[in-house]
Amino acid sequence: MISLSFDIVTVGGGLAASAFAASMARNGMRVLVLEKETQFKDRVRGEFVATWGVAEARELGIETQLFNTCATPIPWIDMGFGPRNLVETTPQQLPCMSFFHPEMQEVLLAEAERAGAEVRRGVTVTSIQPGANPSLLAAINGSEERIPARIIVAADGRGSAARKWAGFSPQRNAQPFHFAGVLLTGVSGRKDMGTFVFNPELGLVGGIVPQGNDRFRAYLGYPTDGSFTLQGSEKLGTFLAESRKVGPMFADCYAQAKRLGPLASFDAGDVWIDHPYRDGVALIGEAGATSDPSFGQGMSLSLRDARVLRDALLGDSDWDQAGHLYAEQHDIYFHRLHTVCVWMRKLFQEQGPEADARRQTAMPRIVDDLSRVPDHLFGGPELPMDESVRARFFGEDRLNSAKSA
Ligand SMILES: Cc1cc2nc3c(=O)[nH]c(=O)nc-3n(C[C@H](O)[C@H](O)[C@H](O)COP(=O)(O)OP(=O)(O)OC[C@H]3O[C@@H](n4cnc5c(N)ncnc54)[C@H](O)[C@@H]3O)c2cc1C
Repeated sequence: MISLSFDIVTVGGGLAASAFAASMARNGMRVLVLEKETQFKDRVRGEFVATWGVAEARELGIETQLFNTCATPIPWIDMGFGPRNLVETTPQQLPCMSFFHPEMQEVLLAEAERAGAEVRRGVTVTSIQPGANPSLLAAINGSEERIPARIIVAADGRGSAARKWAGFSPQRNAQPFHFAGVLLTGVSGRKDMGTFVFNPELGLVGGIVPQGNDRFRAYLGYPTDGSFTLQGSEKLGTFLAESRKVGPMFADCYAQAKRLGPLASFDAGDVWIDHPYRDGVALIGEAGATSDPSFGQGMSLSLRDARVLRDALLGDSDWDQAGHLYAEQHDIYFHRLHTVCVWMRKLFQEQGPEADARRQTAMPRIVDDLSRVPDHLFGGPELPMDESVRARFFGEDRLNSAKSA
């Protein structure tokens, strides 16, 4: 029997790992967080947490700490149909939340330390040994250390090497879209409202997320048809010009905008692991599932993963069994959200005659009755999601009833 110094070792110290580590340490577990960066910089990541993700942050005991330090409440959203108050219209009765991602990472790692976790920065994990007694190899200053634990929690993000080391096979749903982001100042617009608007004719989606101190994260999703790419700061002019095409709300707000950080684009395809637990290794956050950023669900999913894995481990002394329970639940909530995102992509982004025909049927009905749009992006994966929800969204319910009349 090996004497272990840690119950849990995490690969990475991003949102998923630090939220999980803080919560487990608060529950008396010996947690080690290994993060390769000594200082976080702007990597162009998510900075808008949906209502249901804020509820997960509350469950994890980090919501107040975030609002007291780096986060701004965003109670309003405009998706091209006018301002909507999320506190009044979501089951959670909460606002969304925004922050500058590197600041949030610092706050949550400090929170994990305060809760009793050990955090080592500048340490790169180089391999994982899965099994009944899992361990990993960590490199620091040219030397390597093997660290065993009861469970390894890999949270090393969208490019996760850990999932390969641990023998997981990623599933992929390639998409002909990219998603770009850049931090701006001088944007005119409300400081308490997020804007996410699709322009289906052009396959564009624009987003503006205010985050306090006159900072705004601007996003643009666009087709990967080769007509332009948005990588590198010299492409800011193209980013702003393409954003203005999304709709009238983007026409004026960028007139005085100045760049505060890098401009980067990412592949919008979905990559996920079915059943993200095996042999003493659990995957959480984007290591377990990278969802299309166009729909802004990644951080809520990461927080859900942290909470569900925590509850499974605290509820069962057999951590192998608990790991499998986490993975079963992950499959359910991830696939529910993924399905809704696929529906939305088909109606709001896809190009070509078939997509145009779908829109001709659905859009006039949606404009008449906005409740036809599934609200899972804010209300979360537990909202009803069956054939009738799908048919109402695509406007097929009236077609079906007309056919049967
Ligand atoms: C352009 C863009 C826009 C997005 N917009 C939104 C949005 O509006 N809303 C939303 O909810 N989500 C959004 N997302 C998704 C969101 O950013 C992710 O879901 C979230 O950052 C995932 O957190 P994570 O902790 O899993 O991974 P990460 O944030 O990537 O953290 C992983 C950490 O692991 C560390 N690491 C990696 N490898 C190693 C190693 N070998 N050893 C030690 N440390 C390691 C890294 O340094 C990093 O700190 C967006 C993503 C992109 C790309």
